[in-house]
Amino acid sequence: MYVGACPKLIEPRSESSVKTVVSPNKTKGRIAPIRVVIVHTMETGESSNVAENVAAYFARASTNASAHLCVDNNSVVRCVADSDTAWAAPGCNSDGLQIELAGRAGQLKAQWADEYSKDLLDLAARQVAAWCDKHNIPARRLTRAQLRAGQRGIAGHADVSAVYKRSDHWDPGDNFPWTSFIAKVNHYLDGGGAQPSKPATSKPTAKPGDWPAFPGRLLSYRPGTALMSGADVTTWQSRLKQLRYTITVDGQYGPMTAAATKVFQRAEHLDADGVVGPKTWRAAA
Ligand SMILES: [Zn+2]
Repeated sequence: MYVGACPKLIEPRSESSVKTVVSPNKTKGRIAPIRVVIVHTMETGESSNVAENVAAYFARASTNASAHLCVDNNSVVRCVADSDTAWAAPGCNSDGLQIELAGRAGQLKAQWADEYSKDLLDLAARQVAAWCDKHNIPARRLTRAQLRAGQRGIAGHADVSAVYKRSDHWDPGDNFPWTSFIAKVNHYLDGGGAQPSKPATSKPTAKPGDWPAFPGRLLSYRPGTALMSGADVTTWQSRLKQLRYTITVDGQYGPMTAAATKVFQRAEHLDADGVVGPKTWRAAA
């Protein structure tokens, strides 16, 4: 499929704009692989320092609870590393990433649509997109049956309570705007901002001559490491550019190339791992 967009690196908010207030309330490490993102509300009003205040609350050992991230309308505060287990949703602590949003489970639809909530949901969607990308979690809301069956995706604390019956919390509430939130997550996952300009019916026909056979050396992206020769990287980047992905043709396989490759792979229904293997290479021909 041709994507006429300008895919950008997902901006998981540079780490510098994410504050850190470490919570002692956690289990070191992970008992189970990360599988789900669990959405919570902090049961607070709407003010600009809610995330900081709740993070300070989680920083006290006596609180005996935590989350990975707290988000309000203008900030993200990290309390627990993804690699550690936060205490937020019994039943899905061991395999969950926990995100706490400013607001209340009892909010009406209109309250989830005010300016404050729009900013909050936008910040939260960027974070959840970064998680989905990093941990290979599909950006979809799980039904309770899917959650029970061990599938991967996004759910609310209420869903965890209903499935595992170890809590009576019902956040983020019946009026949480799930459909638009999941759409926003997918928006950021697909590059954030750029909408396809015009749906094209096919790939551009102009090709860089004959598409060469796969060079046979897997390009494994790790920061600063490319196992493909610079010439092959240049061929790959030139083809992505010709397919109208935003990319600098410099022969260096860096994070921008990995990000553009992932967007290309999603469009081609391939595993979006950012690594150019034979299937990905052939799909570009
Ligand atoms: Zn909760």
